[in-house]
Amino acid sequence: MSLMNQDGILHISLLEGQARAILIESTAMVQRAKEIHGLSKIATAALGRTLSATAMMGSMLKGRDESVTASIRGGGPIGTVLAVADSNGCVKGYVDHPEIDLPRTGPKLPVGAAVGRDGRLTVIKDMHLREPYVGQVNLVSGEIAEDFAMYFTASEQTPSLVSLGVLVSDEKVEAAGGLIVQMLPGASEAALQSVENSAGMFMDISGTIKEYHLDGAVDQLLMHLQPVVLERRESRYECDCSRGRVERALITLGAEELTDMIETQHGAQVDCHFCNKRYSFTEEDLRQLLAAATAKSEG
Ligand SMILES: [Zn+2]
Repeated sequence: MSLMNQDGILHISLLEGQARAILIESTAMVQRAKEIHGLSKIATAALGRTLSATAMMGSMLKGRDESVTASIRGGGPIGTVLAVADSNGCVKGYVDHPEIDLPRTGPKLPVGAAVGRDGRLTVIKDMHLREPYVGQVNLVSGEIAEDFAMYFTASEQTPSLVSLGVLVSDEKVEAAGGLIVQMLPGASEAALQSVENSAGMFMDISGTIKEYHLDGAVDQLLMHLQPVVLERRESRYECDCSRGRVERALITLGAEELTDMIETQHGAQVDCHFCNKRYSFTEEDLRQLLAAATAKSEG
């Protein structure tokens, strides 16, 4: 990790425990995503916001090696926006169309127009239970922060404010960050009012992160809400793919599909969606996987 990487996540208690905040600085993470996928500015904003929100959700998971996947399908030209985060601080993601570009109509990048709003945000949490938890909400605007706020409020029954921001120049990500503020059970009406009164401060999250970074941003954003930092966590873009994982995925395709790959393509190349690493399999490699698939189906 370079000295320039100041990324991290803070868990913060507010109003003597009546509310809480999760705050992320994700500049290096979003820059890494931009480099891996060759993201346009607007795709950087869309994926960067989604990575930031999902990384914060990953940090809220309780157990080790648990993971959360957020996918947004809004029917817009960018296609699917997807991010996966785990409880150990790793996050990864992709968009279907990283090159997407749309004309600006105002001061902000038209993320909502790229994502579309005719669709859903789906959240899948794998907490090593028999079935994963799945929550889904209709998109509000495709601007992503509002969509996550709706998810927390409607699907998890936790009234929440979400702010996400990515400041991107032609060359690089200048700053990226996010803030989730949630009311906790038993919060007073006065506490709710205090949070709502502060909401205006949360709007320019990328500007605040750029100027003050994570620790300074706590006071800038939350000064009226008696913030107490409880915990600081690492967060970074990292893909955990491996040849073994890809082999297991190929085996689960089944004997018929593998036989087809051997006979018509004489090999296979599999690209990881998250890091673009390419895994090549010769005809002989595939025959070994076919043997494993056949043994599996007979066993
Ligand atoms: Zn990968």
